[in-house]
Amino acid sequence: MFNTAERMDKLPFSEIRVMMERANRMQKEGIDVIHMEIGRPDFDTPDVIKDAAYKSLQEGHVFYTSNYGTPQLRAAIAEKLTKENGVAYKPEEILVTIGVGEGTYASMAAFLNPGDEVLVPNPVWLNYIHVPEFFGAKPVSYSLKEENDYQIDMDELESKITDKTRMLVINTPGNPTGTVQSRETLMKLADIAKKYDLIVVSDEIYEKLVYGGVKAVSIASLPGMKERTITLNGFSKCYSMTGWRLGYAAAPVEMIQALVRVHQYINTCAASFVQDAGVVALREGEPYVQKMVAEYERRRNYAVKALNAMDGISCKTPEGAFYIFVNVKSIGLPSAQIADYLLDHAHVAAVPGSAFGSEGEGYIRLSYACSYEKIVEAMGRMEKAFAELKKN
Ligand code: PMP
Repeated sequence: MFNTAERMDKLPFSEIRVMMERANRMQKEGIDVIHMEIGRPDFDTPDVIKDAAYKSLQEGHVFYTSNYGTPQLRAAIAEKLTKENGVAYKPEEILVTIGVGEGTYASMAAFLNPGDEVLVPNPVWLNYIHVPEFFGAKPVSYSLKEENDYQIDMDELESKITDKTRMLVINTPGNPTGTVQSRETLMKLADIAKKYDLIVVSDEIYEKLVYGGVKAVSIASLPGMKERTITLNGFSKCYSMTGWRLGYAAAPVEMIQALVRVHQYINTCAASFVQDAGVVALREGEPYVQKMVAEYERRRNYAVKALNAMDGISCKTPEGAFYIFVNVKSIGLPSAQIADYLLDHAHVAAVPGSAFGSEGEGYIRLSYACSYEKIVEAMGRMEKAFAELKKN
């Protein structure tokens, strides 16, 4: 066996996957596992989007597209950002990517030097730790704390800035807390980004999954921010298209030119017929998104109420995404042990909060991207399991 490159030491397997694989193994053995660990919508992709892909294939759209993406999709994305997000982008300022995963990688590959520091949330979607490390840069965590409603604490964040800080990553609505950063928080953040001349990477993948009339603000729409922001977004979560692998980066032309140089050597371009379907998702997908959002909200409301009614268990009501970050501190065990216990005794798969960084210890993440009936069943099983655990 060959030794891997040294930089691979910074690239572990994801703990979320480990949990998912364990849950899947149990399921194969015939155990009725309820999957609340997965960050993947349970809905099928709306037919209108699938039909657009079939049509595109039938029309023979089977070749490479421009590295940047098709003109039609870049135009549709620019129009969407201008109309819905209040940031006037031109098609030249858009790069079509293979999901936000690639957008993250390309942004960091293009702009981070070894030794640069990147401010990232804690708890966090782990790509924001491991990708900078892969490029020899240093992720520096800022805390999202429950007592602060998981809003960014500006004093703490500013105290982490050094002369090496080059980039600030934000994710709103956020994984794993489901928090939507308020306009006030983002305004203050924008001031800091300008004061210290930081590049902002804004991951807006859960943008449309917001509840109770809340709207997620794009930081690039705030004064003086478009110039320094790479907005990452995609089709995976809102349109239920995780397997299609489609996303985009929006940024000033010179930044997009840098990203495309990375992208061309990894992916060349996103799949041609997938891009055609993406245009239809943007132009005709909204009613389907709104139906899914209504169902997520119904599930969220049930689960939040049920969790808060359990003895010693509590959670905030998340305003976005499809995650609930559940406080299990009163049990007094590490969250990894609690997640294992729930899987073994309640057959409910959850992700230990510690998998998302030190601030996640004492929490578990539940995804409500599974059916309402399953959530009702899972809550019943969890209540029993927690009661048993407390007795012992
Ligand atoms: N960003 C966040 C915050 C996520 O939670 C995920 C998926 N878990 C992604 C990006 C990945 O998005 P994509 O499928 O577009 O690569």
